[in-house]
Amino acid sequence: MNSIKNKNIAIVGGGPGGLTLARLLQMNGAHVKVYERDLNREVRVQGATLDLHDESGLKALRAAGLMNEFEANYRPGADKMRIVDKSAQIIYADEGGGEGGFFRPEIDRGPLREIMLNSLQADTVVWDSQFVALEQQSDGTIKLEFKNGTVAYADVVIAADGANSKIRPYITPVKPFYAGISVVEGAVYHSATASPRIHQLLNGGKIFAMGDEKTIIVSSKGDGSLVFYTGCKTDEFWFRESGIDFNDKTQVFAWFEQEFAGWDAIWDELFENANPVFIPRPQYCMPLDQTWEAQPNITMLGDAAHLMPPYAGEGVNMAMLDALELAECLLSDQYTNIHAAIAAYEEQMRARASEIGAITLEQTASLHSPQAIENMVAMFRPEE
Ligand SMILES: Cc1cc2nc3c(=O)[nH]c(=O)nc-3n(C[C@H](O)[C@H](O)[C@H](O)COP(=O)(O)OP(=O)(O)OC[C@H]3O[C@@H](n4cnc5c(N)ncnc54)[C@H](O)[C@@H]3O)c2cc1C
Repeated sequence: MNSIKNKNIAIVGGGPGGLTLARLLQMNGAHVKVYERDLNREVRVQGATLDLHDESGLKALRAAGLMNEFEANYRPGADKMRIVDKSAQIIYADEGGGEGGFFRPEIDRGPLREIMLNSLQADTVVWDSQFVALEQQSDGTIKLEFKNGTVAYADVVIAADGANSKIRPYITPVKPFYAGISVVEGAVYHSATASPRIHQLLNGGKIFAMGDEKTIIVSSKGDGSLVFYTGCKTDEFWFRESGIDFNDKTQVFAWFEQEFAGWDAIWDELFENANPVFIPRPQYCMPLDQTWEAQPNITMLGDAAHLMPPYAGEGVNMAMLDALELAECLLSDQYTNIHAAIAAYEEQMRARASEIGAITLEQTASLHSPQAIENMVAMFRPEE
C-alpha cells in the first residue's frame, strides 16, 4: 500500500509544479488541496512563454494524461528563434519545429495553468490562501496558517510556493546566492501596432539579442502581446540602490537608454510602448551542493527547492519533473512510510537540480560574456 493512502496532502502554491503534482496525485486517488495566494483563477498570469522539454515538462504532462489538452493549446511556430546583435542584425535564425532535433513546443503560462486547473476536481484549489506559518501538531498533522486568518490541517505539506518560498526555511536554512545578473521585465500589449519593428523581427517567436555583455530576450505571446527582459551585470541590490522607480516608465526608459547606449533605436520601441509597470528581478541560484535531512512530512519542489536563473529555460521543466518524481515516490509501494518516500525523492531531485543548475550558470555567464553570440550560435551549429 502506498504511504499516502488516506492522508491529506496540502500543496502550497498553484504554479506549474504544484498543479502538476496535484493532478498526478489526484488521478491516483489521493486527497489533495492546493493553497494559492492569488485571489482567484482569473488573475492575469504574467511572464514569458515556456518551452517544454520532452524529457521533463512534456514527460510530466504525458503522465498527467494532458497531452491532448497541451496539443490544443500550445503555439506551433512560437519556438522560432532569432539570435541578433545589438544592431538587431540577424546572426542566426532557427525556424523551429524541431529541425536539428531541438523541438521544444512553447505554451504561454496562462493556458498551461488553465489546462492544469481544469484537470483537477472542483474545489481542489483554495484561492486567496497566502501561507504565512506552519506548526507540527502532537497528533502528527501539520497546521497551516494563512494571511487571511484561515487555517488548515494536513498530514503532508509540499512547498510549491516558488522562489521566495515561506516553507523552505522549515526544511533547510540554506539560501540562494546572487548570480550576478539583474533582469528588468516588461510587457507590450498589441505588439503588432504598438512596436511594429520589434514585432516583425520577433516573427511570432523569440529574440535573443546580445552585446556588451548584456542581453535582451523578447517572446511573443498568444494574446498578441510580447514580454521582454533585459539582463545586465549589476550589484545584488541595484534595483533598490539605483533609486529607479520601476512603476515610472520615464525613469526606466532613461535608465535603459544609458545602460544600452550604442544599441540600435529599434529596442526603444520596447520601452516607449510598454505597459508602465516593470519588474526588476535580481537572479538567484541555489547552491549546487545544497543538502539537508529529509523531514518526515514536509518537502518542496520547483523554484522553492532549486531556484536558478532562466537562461537555460529549465525552471518550469524541472518543477514539473519534480512533481512527477515526487508523485511516483509518494504513490510507490516501495517505501514503508512517507518519510522514506520524501527522502528518496529529495535525493534524486537534488542531484538532478545540481547538474542542471551547473549548466544554467554556465549558460548565464556565456550569454553575458563578450563571446555571447558566437557561443550561442555554436550551440545551434555545433559543427562550425
Ligand atoms: C523572467 C523569467 C523568465 C523565465 N523564463 C523561463 C523559461 O523560458 N522557461 C522555464 O522553464 N522557466 C522560466 N523561468 C522560470 C520559471 O518561471 C520557474 O522556474 C517556474 O515557474 C517554477 O515553477 P514553480 O511551480 O516551482 O513556482 P512558481 O511558478 O513561482 O509558482 C509558485 C506559486 O506559488 C504561489 N505562492 C507564492 N507564495 C505563496 C504563499 N506564501 N502562499 C501561497 N501561494 C504562494 C504563487 O502565486 C505561484 O502561483 C523564468 C523565470 C523568470 C523570472
